[in-house]
Amino acid sequence: MSSTHTLRNDSRRAFLKFSVAAAAASAFRIVNEPMLAAAAVDRDMQHFPPGSVVINANENPLGPCDLARKALNDIIPDGGRYCWWLKDELTKSFAESVGVKPENVAIFPGSSEPLHFSVMAFTSPKRSYVTADPGYESGMHSSKSSGGRVVTVPLTKTYAHDIPAMLAAAPDAGLFYVCTPNNPTGTLTPHSAIEELLAKKPAGSTVLVDEAYIHFADLTATAIDLVKADQDLVVLRTFSKIYGMAGIRCGAAIARPDLIQKLVPQGGGSAMPITALVAASASLKHEHLVPERKLINSTIREKTFDWLRSQGYSFTPSQANFFMLDAKRPAKQVIDAMAAQKVFIGRIWPVWPTHLRITVGTQADMDAFQSAFAAVMKNSTSVSYALPTSAAGSHRDSFLADGTMLPRISS
Ligand code: PLP
Repeated sequence: MSSTHTLRNDSRRAFLKFSVAAAAASAFRIVNEPMLAAAAVDRDMQHFPPGSVVINANENPLGPCDLARKALNDIIPDGGRYCWWLKDELTKSFAESVGVKPENVAIFPGSSEPLHFSVMAFTSPKRSYVTADPGYESGMHSSKSSGGRVVTVPLTKTYAHDIPAMLAAAPDAGLFYVCTPNNPTGTLTPHSAIEELLAKKPAGSTVLVDEAYIHFADLTATAIDLVKADQDLVVLRTFSKIYGMAGIRCGAAIARPDLIQKLVPQGGGSAMPITALVAASASLKHEHLVPERKLINSTIREKTFDWLRSQGYSFTPSQANFFMLDAKRPAKQVIDAMAAQKVFIGRIWPVWPTHLRITVGTQADMDAFQSAFAAVMKNSTSVSYALPTSAAGSHRDSFLADGTMLPRISS
């Protein structure tokens, strides 16, 4: 059975309060990956010590491509001006790159904003927010602002979104959030499943497909063709991941114009940093960026998987630049022990208390990860924990980040 609750619920508050940083993050309207990543290691967004390996926030160590770097340098003298036309130029070239019309595209400083605005526009105390567990948590935090009930549904056995269970769990749904590849598992939800969701969803509800990591996986799995077919969905893309521009801030919502119009009044529409606009436009002109970086990432990821297999560990079959690793130990202990070795890994999802999210960094990062992980695991004791099944009707418990079990949330 899905878990259904509001963030005012005591158990939900306990779920969020695993560190000072998490508590601080939960006070913000838009909660995003760097806040959640910092919360997992009690760092409160401080600097990492010199020599650290930072593979905790699904960032791209390659940074912006050469064309984007040149564009960034070249725009500096114009930094005193708003240059509105640069946003129009990017809107047009982005629309062309994904095969839609400019009126189907809205540019934002990242995809966190349109994600939040979608929750604000389409959920309310009467219309719930439906998401996967484990899934990217940002929209659950936004539901605190909209008052929308949060409905969480376990992934299927192949780590896809369980569309029939999501539909059954929320006849009052306002927004279905489908993250593909899913953060934190890195696994895709098939296009046919998204089509099924659109065909069977309650009247008046909207589907939000978050494709932040799709360039690392299979671009043909995109749901943008369903926007072209005028369906009730918003697709999110970002320049933070394969394009290496997380710190520069550029993202897009792709949807029917009437849906775009519902997002913008929620807080969009102000001037974009011109640095983000020119770097994104230049990145789109780079013919080989996506295939080259996809290959670099998959080569390092598969090498890491080979090593983990050789050591007897299991992990999610990710197609993205991160994966979930079963440490078979309370995950918080492993995160802390790795941090003591200056290797900062990702956070925990309470539904999988022995799993850690690992971002795929450079080969040198992953070599350092392997050495530190081998040393940390050598003397620690394993525990076994059965993953919840995806079947609707199954109960699951929630855990604090240190592995402590919480009282079951009403379902
Ligand atoms: N969606 C997913 C699934 C993410 O993991 C992230 C960040 O990591 C975002 C959206 C937001 O990223 P940004 O605001 O940098 O585009």
